[in-house]
Amino acid sequence: MRYIDLDELSLPDGWSAKAEAAAQAVQGGADPEDYSEVWRDLKHELSALFPEKKCWYCESPVDRADNAVDHFRPKGRVSDALNPHAGYQWLAFEWRNYRYACTFCNSRRKDVLHGTAGGKADRFPLLDESRRLYGPGPLDQEAPKLLDPCELNDWELIGCKQENGKPCPATDDPVDHMRAMESIEVYHLDYEPTCKQRHRAAVQLMADVELGKRLFANPEMKNEFKTVARKIRRAIERKSPFSGDMIYLLKGQRAADHPWIQKLIEA
Ligand SMILES: [Zn+2]
Repeated sequence: MRYIDLDELSLPDGWSAKAEAAAQAVQGGADPEDYSEVWRDLKHELSALFPEKKCWYCESPVDRADNAVDHFRPKGRVSDALNPHAGYQWLAFEWRNYRYACTFCNSRRKDVLHGTAGGKADRFPLLDESRRLYGPGPLDQEAPKLLDPCELNDWELIGCKQENGKPCPATDDPVDHMRAMESIEVYHLDYEPTCKQRHRAAVQLMADVELGKRLFANPEMKNEFKTVARKIRRAIERKSPFSGDMIYLLKGQRAADHPWIQKLIEA
């Protein structure tokens, strides 16, 4: 996961008026799904906020599935709510509630073969259920459990294991740890085929870091070192698959006698 700045979203001409009309129709009792073209119309603009049209939750390249506009606060029912919740319908046409997601993160799926299940669908758990909104109100009243790519620091709370590419919390804070665990389950980040892809990236990164460390220690290999350092830098750039996880793994490799690693992370 990486931070996505939603304020960079550029709305097409006429979109706001269409969204406003749809919101009024839904207020009058219409089904938000009847106006789904309103959020679908923003798919391209949303996908453009993150390179390679990657999923905002899992950073997978999109070739595995059709991506969609996810409502961070579900527009339909909310299965985590203590009382019956018809969904955050009043946010169905609010662009700040949109996230660009792959179908694996977005829709409920079971991977029977590997014993995992996930997909956001109607999930939206809160840290304190008693503060849930059931109608329009200040959103900061709610503290979502799910890590949000559009929050400045949430993306850093999750990483992956070097040995198998499985996602893991990247924090010792008990609350953030729990949020990361919940997000792994709800976004189905432990979907086995995704773990395999992530693992492949991790293996390559670690091999490059090992080589970089060896070359760094040898003054005669300066040019070779620079080539490897550039390659490592590319692996943590926003356009690379699982770049947030690669940053997490690279952070684990920092050492006093290898200051170049920290410099690459900051570059
Ligand atoms: Zn995804």
